[in-house]
Amino acid sequence: MSNTPQKLYYCNDSVLLEKEGPRYRIPAFSEAPLWLEAHQIIHTLGMYEGVAIDVVEVTGPTELPHPYTWLALRPALEALYPRSFNLLARAHQVLSWDKNHRYCGRCGAETKVNGKSFERQCASCQLLFYPRISPSIIVLIRKDDKILLARKADFPRNVYGLIAGFVEAGETLEETVHREVYEEVGLRVKNLQYFDSQPWPFPDSLMIAFTADYAGGEIELRDGELEAAAWYKADNLPGLPGSSISIARKLIDNFAADKSNGYRP
Ligand SMILES: [Zn+2]
Repeated sequence: MSNTPQKLYYCNDSVLLEKEGPRYRIPAFSEAPLWLEAHQIIHTLGMYEGVAIDVVEVTGPTELPHPYTWLALRPALEALYPRSFNLLARAHQVLSWDKNHRYCGRCGAETKVNGKSFERQCASCQLLFYPRISPSIIVLIRKDDKILLARKADFPRNVYGLIAGFVEAGETLEETVHREVYEEVGLRVKNLQYFDSQPWPFPDSLMIAFTADYAGGEIELRDGELEAAAWYKADNLPGLPGSSISIARKLIDNFAADKSNGYRP
């Protein structure tokens, strides 16, 4: 077996994929094919599922020979879900880190990769820069056999989602859940339970998902972020986030599939 890392090629934030019928896959290149342009920046991504991976940034060409294509992050994540989702999320965040921390935020001097994989260091004041990861909570709130769904004004028509928000400095995840729920819909919740987590590289979130039970209050749209919020039974859900790759959809589907909620498909 070769120890040569497998290459993941990127051009202008799009990843090189191979079309295989109606599906896509990551082509297994260990050497650059001749048709990729020579100017390349290589980032060692480390091991992924037992395989060493390098991310290689190339400058072109924009048009690729069949069956290869460049795909932007969102469609690429959807095309490769669930396999390779976390790999692409990681690659994308490493590329962003490398682009966004070329100069020190404290003294303005240039930074250099510090020998370790994901550490850039200021050449002057030694400050360190790592890929930014922004934790965010998302919560499914149950009340009897219903869940709370809400929509922002910029959601597609009739599409509803869950309460979510970024963790603020100095907060625990549980405090974020209580604060966001109260700020957005004026409710109190109890029985918080961790559900699952998911990297969400738009641009650098880590979604931490909870379920909770209603504990009090009336729905009140308090901070102007939401346009509507209401309780819905599992067999009478409105439009949901279209993409099955989001953890919001996984939370809602999990609730709807739970027969103890009275849902009868
Ligand atoms: Zn500095």
